[in-house]
Amino acid sequence: MEYREIKRCGGIKVSEIALGCEGFIGKSKREYAEMADRAFELGINFIDMYTPNPEFRDNFGAAIKGRRDKIVLQGHICSVWENGDYLRTRNPGKTKAAFEDQLKRLGTDYIDVGMIHYIDAEEDFKRVFEGDIMKYCIGLKKEGKIRCTGISSHNPTVAIKAVESGLVDVVMFSVNAAYDMQPPTENVDDLFEPSSYEGSFLNADPERVRLYELCEREGVAIDVMKAFGGGDMLSEEYSPFGVAFNEYQCIEYCLTRPAVVSVMAGCHSVGEMEKAVSYYSASKAERDYSSVLAGMKRFKFSGNCLYCGHCAPCTAGINIADLNKYLKLAVVQGEIPETVAEHYRLLKAHAGDCTECGRCEKNCPFGVDITGNMKKAKKVFGY
Ligand code: SF4
Ligand code: SF4
Repeated sequence: MEYREIKRCGGIKVSEIALGCEGFIGKSKREYAEMADRAFELGINFIDMYTPNPEFRDNFGAAIKGRRDKIVLQGHICSVWENGDYLRTRNPGKTKAAFEDQLKRLGTDYIDVGMIHYIDAEEDFKRVFEGDIMKYCIGLKKEGKIRCTGISSHNPTVAIKAVESGLVDVVMFSVNAAYDMQPPTENVDDLFEPSSYEGSFLNADPERVRLYELCEREGVAIDVMKAFGGGDMLSEEYSPFGVAFNEYQCIEYCLTRPAVVSVMAGCHSVGEMEKAVSYYSASKAERDYSSVLAGMKRFKFSGNCLYCGHCAPCTAGINIADLNKYLKLAVVQGEIPETVAEHYRLLKAHAGDCTECGRCEKNCPFGVDITGNMKKAKKVFGY
């Protein structure tokens, strides 16, 4: 397992492969314990708990008893349990009661990431950020009941506003290559709707790209939901692209987006957890999503680096994907943020080492002007 930092949450380290909680629901206490034990053994230390289901909270709390400090909990705020179902609310009283219930049932006095349950509409964003819910979250943070604040969203426009507010440390966002081609929408169903994928698409939606870059610059962590598009991405029949990705390619795609720290895998069994973590033993070819994306006709990625790494190895030892990422971050802002300058400095080889051999460009399936980028980077960073 490898770990990444949530910088604005005291630098806590979370596993790149993390868990969604839906796979626990309906299991026996013994199965909860087995799944939790195996998750710890596999190095998984991060779980999203969107559901206020009392059964989940009680059983998961029992399963992690005595090892609370070894797990990073992402608990949702504004997600309440009513009449045997979970609902989203913006009612301050219900929100507070549900959060206190969460602490009690899980047997803890704090949640690491207090995640405001999804905000997709701009009006809802205003209600939450200018009203009692955000005030409540700020209070929870002051009291130490949450270590950092997050929002979950499917709409990049709303997520950008949240990040720009400076009040958010983590964004839980729906990420996969198909959703990345969709324009922002307040209606999450548009992402699943086959008619949304009719016609031709060129490159990732700029608003989504802007969200990833903004988060990277601001040190806001993204954790990923719907990496497999609810399973659709893994099926030739249901994938919007008409070709199936494998699990490793979906995970790799997410982990190579800027600012992403973890992919929440909705595992329903120990076997599914082991499969997700076998990402680390998969070959480079098995993880390589560029082979799928490059072969499509209606969905075309061209001219922009996707950070896929397919062009590696560089003859001069340059990590081309990372260098392209830092160049983009430096250019977008007009000045080089300190963190980007530091990341660039830490690269083993730099743009100035490029010999213009052209090997990488032959290997890039997306027609990126890599040698042009090397010249730009040398100018921007000075070496
Ligand atoms: S330059 Fe091309 S091959 Fe290399 S990381 Fe970017 S998109 Fe992938
Ligand atoms: S052209 Fe430059 S960046 Fe590309 S492989 Fe050759 S040395 Fe590396």
